[in-house]
Order: sequence, then C-alpha cells, then structure tokens
Amino acid sequence: MPLTNTQYDEIMRKYNRIQSRHQQLLQAHQNEIRALLPRVAEINHEISDASMKKARELLTGSTSDWSLEDTIQALAEERQALLLAHGYPADYLELSYDCALCRDTGYIGGKKCECFKRAAIELLYAQSQLSDILEKENFDTFKEDFYPRELKDEATGQSALDMARSAVRTARDFAAHFDKQFENLYFYGNTGVGKTFLTHCIARELIESGHSVIYFSAYDLFDELAKKAFHSRDEGPGLPDYVGDCDLLIIDDLGTELTNSFVSARLFLLINERLTRRKSTIISTNLEIGAFSEMYSERTFSRIFSNYTICKLIGRDIRIQKKLS
Ligand SMILES: [Zn+2]
Repeated sequence: MPLTNTQYDEIMRKYNRIQSRHQQLLQAHQNEIRALLPRVAEINHEISDASMKKARELLTGSTSDWSLEDTIQALAEERQALLLAHGYPADYLELSYDCALCRDTGYIGGKKCECFKRAAIELLYAQSQLSDILEKENFDTFKEDFYPRELKDEATGQSALDMARSAVRTARDFAAHFDKQFENLYFYGNTGVGKTFLTHCIARELIESGHSVIYFSAYDLFDELAKKAFHSRDEGPGLPDYVGDCDLLIIDDLGTELTNSFVSARLFLLINERLTRRKSTIISTNLEIGAFSEMYSERTFSRIFSNYTICKLIGRDIRIQKKLS
C-alpha cells in the first residue's frame, strides 16, 4: 500500500498505543488479583518452579515420571477456577487484543492484516477532508427548488426536476442495496447541477453503515497513481491496495485531470479491476457520453456503459443560484 512514510508511521504508532494499553490493562489485572487472591500468585510461582525442576532434570539426565504438562495444566485449571469463583472472566490474566488475528501488530506472517487496511483507509479518508462536507451534505439537505420544472432535456423531454428526482432515487437505492446488489453509477451533467452533492450523500450513508469509502477528485487520483507508478520500489505494477480494495471508490470530476496515455491506461485498469473484484465505483463527470470515448479509450467506454447505471442531471448552476438568492 503506497502510504507515505509519515502515514505508515502514524498507523504503526497507533498499534504501539494499542499494545501498551493492553499491557497496562494486564498489569492492572495482575496487581488486582495478587492483592485479592494470594493463591494465584502462589500458583504462578509453582508453575515456574515446576518448569525449572523439569529443566534441571533434563540437564542432569535424571529420570522421573511426573509430567510437566499435566502439572501446569492442573495449576492453570485451579487458577481459572479461582478467578471464575470470584466473578472474574477466565482470561482475566491473559493479554487481550483489539485484533486477535494479528495480535495488534498489523501483520500476519508478513502480510498486512485486515485491520491495517482498515486503518489505512480511515487515515486516507480523514485526510480526504470529506468529513466536514458530509456534515452538511446528505439526502436530507437535498433541495428540489434548484431544479426547474420548465427546463427540459433536449434528448428526452424530461424536466430538470424529474431527472433530479430520479437521480436521487437511484442514489438512495444504490446506498440502501449496497450489500445485496453490485452496482456502479455514472453521474453526468453540467457544472453545478448537484452531481458531487449526490456522491457525497452516498458516501455518507455508506460510511455510516461501516463501509470503506474512498473519494478522489480525478486530478488527485491520477496524481496519486502516477506517484505510485514512478516512485515506488516495492509495489508491483497494479493499483494501490486501497484503490482496489475499498468498498466504494468515488472518482469526482472525471475529465478535469490532465489526460494522456498514462491516465487513459490507468483508468481502464482501475475500472476493469474493480469490476472483476465486484467492488462498486461511482464516477461523476461533465463529459457527455460521446465525448467520453474520444477522451479515453473505446474499451473503457464499453466497460463503463455496459456495467454502470447512467444518471443525467440538468439544471442551472446551483452555486450561482445560491449566490443570487
Ligand atoms: Zn489485525
């Protein structure tokens, strides 16, 4: 995962904090039990004495028929029974973990644990500065007044209001059925007709239901992918994990980045990989459908238009309307 060193260190520091919190907790439990149940401390001594005894016997070659394992097990059972009898959980004197899979190290056998990936996504998300926006932009704050009934789409004759209502319905359904139904969305229309707003609404709903959402402007996304392609040493030619793995990837304002053959190739890779993994993607753009295939490749065009729900919005620039009113 191409985190910067600072981002990586921040996540590792978080693991250190978690580990020391559990260490302190264990220490506190041990002190508490030592004061309350002196027999437990005796048991601990007896266990270490037994181990020493066995080690000595092995070293001196003296034979005896007692079993160290049985001794330890009997003592451990006595200790557990004591704890339970005094209303403590059986594992009260064991080190606990936030993540039992990787024991709060972030790694399992050299591979990143799921909790590491989640922490990375949370970090990226916090740094995407969407959280403030999402306070204000959600389905409840959607205003129909900005979409005039008299403004009609030239191609279909539908009114701006009807199209907005249908886009909101699509967006709401997308969020509501996210876990059951694999779907991708393509919002297009002029600047200021509410495309980004709708992607924010969806992002908010899904984050609140515990999904990992990554939001990128197209410009930042391709900038990030270019950095990865040209500067990383240890990662393969694929996509950064968080871009391929997150539950929902939102690419805002596609078409505003500096388009070149690198961007076009990466876009195809990204669209294709997420489709293969059945991970949803939302694209918002000012590009008319016809302009899209001119700007990117035919194959990207065909992947998108056969796998995405297309939503068009028309209207007058909401940002200008807000300033006027
Ligand atoms: Zn873990």
